Amino acid sequence: MTRPLAPSQSQFLSVVSRDEAVRRFGEAYDARPLGSETVLLADLLGRVLADTVKAPVDVPPFDRAMVDGFAVRASDCATASEAAPTMLRLNGEHIHCGHAPGLVVLPGTATPIATGGPLPRGADAVVMIEHTEPGDGGLVRIARAVAPGQCVAFAGSDLALGETILRAGTVVTAREIGILAACGIAEAAVHRRPRVGVISTGDELVEPGRPLRPAAIYDTNASIVAASVAENGGLPVRFGVIADDAEALRAAMLRAHAECDMVVLSGGTSKGEGDLTHRIVGELGAPGLVVHGVALKPGKPLGLAVCAGKPVVLLPGFPTSAMFTFHDIVAPVLRRMAGLPPRAEASVEAVVPYRVASDVGRTEYVSVALVDGAQGLAAHPVGKGSGAISSFAQADGFLTVDALAEAVPAGAHVEVRLLGPQVRVPDLVVVGSHCTGLDAVVDAVVARGFTVRIVAAGSLGGLQAAKRGECDLAPMHLLHPESGIYNAPWLDEGLELVPGWRRLQGIVFRRDDGRFAGRTADQAVAAALADADCLMVNRNQGAGTRMLIDTLLGGARPGGYWNQPRSHNAVAASVAQNRADWGVAIAPVAEAYGLGFIPLGPEHYDFALVSARKSRPAAAAFLEALRDPAVRDAVADLGFTPAEA
Ligand code: AMP
Ligand code: MG
Repeated sequence: MTRPLAPSQSQFLSVVSRDEAVRRFGEAYDARPLGSETVLLADLLGRVLADTVKAPVDVPPFDRAMVDGFAVRASDCATASEAAPTMLRLNGEHIHCGHAPGLVVLPGTATPIATGGPLPRGADAVVMIEHTEPGDGGLVRIARAVAPGQCVAFAGSDLALGETILRAGTVVTAREIGILAACGIAEAAVHRRPRVGVISTGDELVEPGRPLRPAAIYDTNASIVAASVAENGGLPVRFGVIADDAEALRAAMLRAHAECDMVVLSGGTSKGEGDLTHRIVGELGAPGLVVHGVALKPGKPLGLAVCAGKPVVLLPGFPTSAMFTFHDIVAPVLRRMAGLPPRAEASVEAVVPYRVASDVGRTEYVSVALVDGAQGLAAHPVGKGSGAISSFAQADGFLTVDALAEAVPAGAHVEVRLLGPQVRVPDLVVVGSHCTGLDAVVDAVVARGFTVRIVAAGSLGGLQAAKRGECDLAPMHLLHPESGIYNAPWLDEGLELVPGWRRLQGIVFRRDDGRFAGRTADQAVAAALADADCLMVNRNQGAGTRMLIDTLLGGARPGGYWNQPRSHNAVAASVAQNRADWGVAIAPVAEAYGLGFIPLGPEHYDFALVSARKSRPAAAAFLEALRDPAVRDAVADLGFTPAEA
């Protein structure tokens, strides 16, 4: 039997500011480490030490030779020199590493010793073998003066017994593991990792790896949250996708709450039919929701609860909102539970290149891509407000615009919070029209150790980015209608044209369509325009191909004209799947989709190079790759004709 839900609390009781939300959450839940556990040396990497560690032994444990040579009494060789060498009698043993010496070094004698060998009784210094020569009759010739303690590492000189070697709160890296191993420590006490239950809710969600049903989307948040939990010292425990069903949701939340230290649930937080979560939270324990609705953009439907001593977070459904709110509000709490310090290393300072408008009254998160420029790092807003998951791929981090600010002025210095600790500013930024041939060139640049970001923004989008100095190169294929010339007429001062390759454009159609098969381009377009049932698929404004299509149509607006996808692939898919009958795309794409092809002519795919960035190593590597015969062959294999080098 289905239990009735607790009476609905009024939705979005009151929207509070970001700071007030953080304050209330902090007041209701005192985030601190959850206790410690002992972990073996081999498993310590990335863990946080719960206790201070003192050296249980001296390192090194005995006085040790630091070079290959001879253990001597320094007083025997205090005045030795090339002109007046000291001759010492060799003792009858050779001290190797790991073997205790047996003989005493008496005055006038020396014992051969290897690097790391224990210093024998009587000796107080080691002479490097390079400063000696073998003498006759069991003697060795010492040609340099020797000081006491020379070339000896004394017991405890590295780490002394009882000395503090690592402090509580240290994140264990290979370095800390080395220190522990050197002291013979095989295990250490670390903070227990907070177990964080991760739940996604929504009837429309499908787990990655499964086929997508109609009208469904993939569950993105669970993966984002689980990875972010791990990045911030937690142990994600996944409870899968739960439908918008009160009973299923209640069961999952009760289980997650019982088994974990924190629960992070996404979706179902806003006002609506399926939004049950905030009501179920009330059943998990007091005080329940302390915040529901935060003046954030994006991220308003954020819910923060504490139920019977455990934080329960209701993240907004949109992946970008979920990611921002997690990083800004949840991660700091999780880090305190994990015993980790705030993520200082995950922020960088950057300059905003142009004014970024913002709503007053809401703290706004703005995704930015970092571009390394003449004045240091510049933070360029990307995919602002779009909520598109692809904006993650383009963004390195985000900046937070204060609720009271109506804009961030151009030139402002801002703190950019990186979306992950591994984020690295790319060496080369390419913004513009995408082409599979581009991947061949970029592969060669990456193979030389550079990091590259490609942002597919269309030819005009790339050109604008290049003019603003946001990228190194803007790949483009723009026909200039007046001159009939590709690309060059579109460039401004500060940009120069780098020839790329030629792509054969043509009319694509299903091979069995008699209106097109075997016809010339003019005949085919005439046949298409003559048939009222014939649907075309166009391209977006700003695409080079769009200009070609408009020329081809000569002012006609046949059915399908307003269907304007943004890529060659989308055009080919539309025709192949019978949603349209013809369109214009490039030859390799037509072939990939098994379509018929009537050539129209070569299109020039070139690069607008930002002159100011041309001598940067990654840009230079790109230009070199374009000239590289192997890369040109690869581009040709993909169906393109490289321009004259
Ligand atoms: P909701 O908060 O449930 O109203 O969801 C808001 C939007 O986010 C809807 O478009 C959902 O389809 C989407 N959404 C919710 N959860 C997820 C998820 N786990 N992954 C991707 N999108 C989601
Ligand atoms: Mg939902």
